[in-house]
Amino acid sequence: MAPRVDPVVADSDLPARADVVVIGGGIIGASTAFFLAQKGISVALCEKGHIAGEQSSRNWGFCRQQGRDPRELPLIIESLRIWRSIDRTIEGDTGFRQAGIVYLAEDEKAAAAHEKWLDYARPYQLDTRMITGREIDALLPGAARQWRSARYTASDGHAEPQQAAPAIAAAARRLGGKVLTNCAVRGLDIAAGRVAGVVTEKGRVACESAVLAGGAWSRLFCRNLGITLPQLRVRGSVMRTSPVANAPEASLWTSGFGLRKRRDGGYNVARGGVNDVDIGPDNFRFLTAFWPALRGMHTGLRLRLGKRFFEEFALPARWPLDRESPFERVRVLDPAPSPDLLDAAAEQLRAAFPAFKDARIEERWAGYIDATPDAVPVISPVEQLPGFFIATGFSGHGFGIGPGAGRLMADLVSGAPPIVDATPYRFARFSDGSKMEIIAGF
Ligand SMILES: Cc1cc2nc3c(=O)[nH]c(=O)nc-3n(C[C@H](O)[C@H](O)[C@H](O)COP(=O)(O)OP(=O)(O)OC[C@H]3O[C@@H](n4cnc5c(N)ncnc54)[C@H](O)[C@@H]3O)c2cc1C
Repeated sequence: MAPRVDPVVADSDLPARADVVVIGGGIIGASTAFFLAQKGISVALCEKGHIAGEQSSRNWGFCRQQGRDPRELPLIIESLRIWRSIDRTIEGDTGFRQAGIVYLAEDEKAAAAHEKWLDYARPYQLDTRMITGREIDALLPGAARQWRSARYTASDGHAEPQQAAPAIAAAARRLGGKVLTNCAVRGLDIAAGRVAGVVTEKGRVACESAVLAGGAWSRLFCRNLGITLPQLRVRGSVMRTSPVANAPEASLWTSGFGLRKRRDGGYNVARGGVNDVDIGPDNFRFLTAFWPALRGMHTGLRLRLGKRFFEEFALPARWPLDRESPFERVRVLDPAPSPDLLDAAAEQLRAAFPAFKDARIEERWAGYIDATPDAVPVISPVEQLPGFFIATGFSGHGFGIGPGAGRLMADLVSGAPPIVDATPYRFARFSDGSKMEIIAGF
């Protein structure tokens, strides 16, 4: 079942031209469009379904600095800075709250891993620290058990995924940006070796730059251009409960479950640290690129063989732009959740927090995470095609970093000094012999 998402008023007419066309209306595309519009650049945001229909409304809602890959730290710190005042900036409601995030450790091994990460955070003077005993108890009202220790960041927060990207897209529109929904981009119009426009199912939009923020579809989009973007789809399952009293305000993660309080008083709950990889032809194509990740994360990723293999197999590698494209055939990617993972999470949650025993499970859903071989995103120009930019591959943690990533992409497209050094996110790292190193994972 797909979670309900705040509707966004869309434009009915396709503009003949825009300085920049953004492809994909998740949190990354919406944030990019907003920051471009804020710079006075004309922008059209094209979404094949509805705004935030895919990952951006299906995630847990964590906006966390802690536990990040060190290459993402400067950007997530900027992103949190944006989140803290975002509702004023966009004159909208993303549901952001700085309620803190707690990563609990059951045993010494987990505690050591959490503690090791503090070395990465030290140069940035983050407020992340290890806590024990009463400090943990104070953050976890209603807990029926104890944990060895926890890594805690008071300055981390959460927002409402079903509201945030829609609110940001609506703000981009108020600043003059065009928001086009049910408007798949079939491909790029290339003239004299550079981007001259995009071809949508509703017609052509001339532009100088196109930003691909297509989430789990980005690889397929690039494939039609002869550009190889190594990307795997990882399926994450989530559920939401009815309101629960006497339960944590802070978001928390343990190896058994993760939870985040929703504004409606219920909780988003999922199995901590386990996701599914539905085996498809891309798993074989990118086996070498993803091998370190798959090998290093064998406890957290379950390989599943099912109908997805045949669906992906049937996808064309190339298609003409004057006919229906694969993006129009699936308006909203809505995979089935894994009941066994969610049942296990519910059981462990109820054992740890008895207040959840009376809570109803109101909804269950899943989303496809777009993962890169090093679990770090691509936020970058594509050197072989001037005018083409990619912001994708957020590897399961793009919601919290979304506003910062959108700001960085807008800087790169407009040629402004970037808010942070974009080198770690360059697309060329997949082809220039750089070593793919997984530090934080999906
Ligand atoms: C279960 C789950 C839990 C997660 N939990 C967290 C979390 O707690 N914190 C966190 O930071 N991150 C989390 N994430 C990751 C986060 O949701 C994503 O990284 C983030 O939403 C990515 O945003 P996006 O805009 O790149 O992609 P998406 O939200 O997937 O948006 C891409 C959009 O592009 C559109 N599109 C694709 N191709 C085309 C085309 N050709 N033409 C037009 N439109 C197109 C799609 O329809 C889609 O709407 C989680 C993800 C999942 C699935």
